[in-house]
Amino acid sequence: MLRATNIDSLSRGTFDVLVLGAGINGAVAAAALAARGAKVALIDRGDFAGFTSQESSNLAWGGIKYMESFEFPLVRKLCVSRNLLLRSYPSTVQEIRFYTAHERGFRHGLFKLFLGTWLYWIIGSFFTKIPRLLSRRTIAREEPIIDLEGCDGGFEYSDAYLVDNDARFVWGFVRSALDHGARAANYVESLGARRDGDAWLTRARDVLSGRELTVRSRVLVNACGPFVDAHNALTGQRTSHRHIFSKGIHLIVERLTTSRRVLTFFADDGRLFFVIPMGSRTCIGTTDTRVERPHTEVTAEDRRFVLSNINKRLRLPRPLTEADIIAERCGVRPLAVQEGGGAADWLQLSRKHVIEVDRQQGHVSVFGGKLTDCINVGDEICAAVQELGVALPRPAQRWYGEPGERARDAFFEEARRLELDALTPPRSSEPLSARLWRRYGAEALELLEAIQRDPRMADALIEGVDDLRCEVAHAARREMIAKLDDFLRRRTKISLLVRREELARSPGLREACRILFGDEADLRLEEYFQGSPGTAHADSACGRECYSASGFTP
Ligand SMILES: Cc1cc2nc3c(=O)[nH]c(=O)nc-3n(C[C@H](O)[C@H](O)[C@H](O)COP(=O)(O)OP(=O)(O)OC[C@H]3O[C@@H](n4cnc5c(N)ncnc54)[C@H](O)[C@@H]3O)c2cc1C
Repeated sequence: MLRATNIDSLSRGTFDVLVLGAGINGAVAAAALAARGAKVALIDRGDFAGFTSQESSNLAWGGIKYMESFEFPLVRKLCVSRNLLLRSYPSTVQEIRFYTAHERGFRHGLFKLFLGTWLYWIIGSFFTKIPRLLSRRTIAREEPIIDLEGCDGGFEYSDAYLVDNDARFVWGFVRSALDHGARAANYVESLGARRDGDAWLTRARDVLSGRELTVRSRVLVNACGPFVDAHNALTGQRTSHRHIFSKGIHLIVERLTTSRRVLTFFADDGRLFFVIPMGSRTCIGTTDTRVERPHTEVTAEDRRFVLSNINKRLRLPRPLTEADIIAERCGVRPLAVQEGGGAADWLQLSRKHVIEVDRQQGHVSVFGGKLTDCINVGDEICAAVQELGVALPRPAQRWYGEPGERARDAFFEEARRLELDALTPPRSSEPLSARLWRRYGAEALELLEAIQRDPRMADALIEGVDDLRCEVAHAARREMIAKLDDFLRRRTKISLLVRREELARSPGLREACRILFGDEADLRLEEYFQGSPGTAHADSACGRECYSASGFTP
């Protein structure tokens, strides 16, 4: 088993770099460093992308809201990052229109905001479709679901979104790090680290077996997201930045509109508020509340806020209620602030990332960040690690992006020959070949071979979702699934699309479990339905108290 083999090799030899945390920041760090020839280890105490990076709005956006605070260099940087993602991941990150209704009396007038979208478009190098001013009549025709009362028109501009989901996107980087020889393992926690001569000794624990091990590395990259400060406290790192936390939630409901657009409103608190397409469902949110700790949950008040905002702005056959919620997501944005600084203007606080390097100790801390900016983060961590004396044998190696045209053409040619798209499940919103290519890239050919060998491999296994038997088998072999939630929530988004009660009754899920876990199928099912929904972090992790309880001091 891949995980067990990787854990065994963690305590052998000295790694150039040990990356702690496999959210987006840790995953890109490992992918970039491994592709450029470093000997890399990556551990996460939960599943890959099991904390913040599974709770985002799934948008790759150029930061239009920072125009309001005149942070044009940041907007430019984010637009360039967004454009790079659009170019590098044509099937995974796609342009999408943001369709915005404007309420009379809002703090900025309609025309001023529309001009803002033009400026945004120009700052974004005209990379996307041109913005458009919308009359009330146009909105009524194109999106009749929008309630026009109090609305004096609107505008439409472009940004991008992750077609699958954030956690799957992160997994792509972990997969790529593994393909370049990195040793990565989920459910392995760092209990602390100390410097020993010119190396770090990190004490780690396999959360599933309780086994402890020591990982030796020349450089330590702390990419623990909201837990960066807590881990730095364990290693005695002093930094000039720290994190504060902003909680955000999303609710997933039945599809509200068939158009593939993000409907955008200004919520009662003045923030942008989205209705985002999610396959056969719609995802609505988000919120922005300052909290003191990384572990949060959706409260009754959060639900009320989101539902009342949406009910006020859409003309639905009947108002949405809690009973319409299929699934929920909740996380904290780790925001980097200068040590000693606070959040004078909370809603305006920007989401820049900061990478701090301790040259003497060979330590890197990653603060803040966004999925959108991930390629910059990967490149900057490579530069930091080189600065710490680790030579990267292939410093110019490109480490991101979907496979090139030749691989793509070969896959689609083969898919055509096999008439794969004829097997697309009837409810699916896209042809099967497009979905398999996006999710598996060059590995999609293996799935075609599996279907050719055994046509049953093309059966949709779990009621209500598109995933095929061959995809479950592939996940079992290649995607380091240790718990059922890893599969249902992060390698796929099944648990966001299907209600928990329906999953509990699903014979298809039982069969999927047998493929994923063999003899342990019943155990994993039971573990999943006993836990609270979507909590890779709840079972693996603890808060700050835990660090002081389990950490070891140098
Ligand atoms: C509601 C919401 C909406 C958002 N929307 C967007 C968006 O649309 N677009 C966008 O670009 N960004 C968005 N973001 C921001 C983005 O999701 C985050 O900035 C990003 O996911 C943070 O990634 P990370 O790797 O720093 O942290 P995380 O994903 O939290 O990863 C840190 C990892 O470290 C692990 N860890 C912690 N301690 C240890 C330890 N001791 N040993 C081993 N592992 C450890 C954790 O288990 C965790 O998996 C949003 C965030 C939120 C909360």
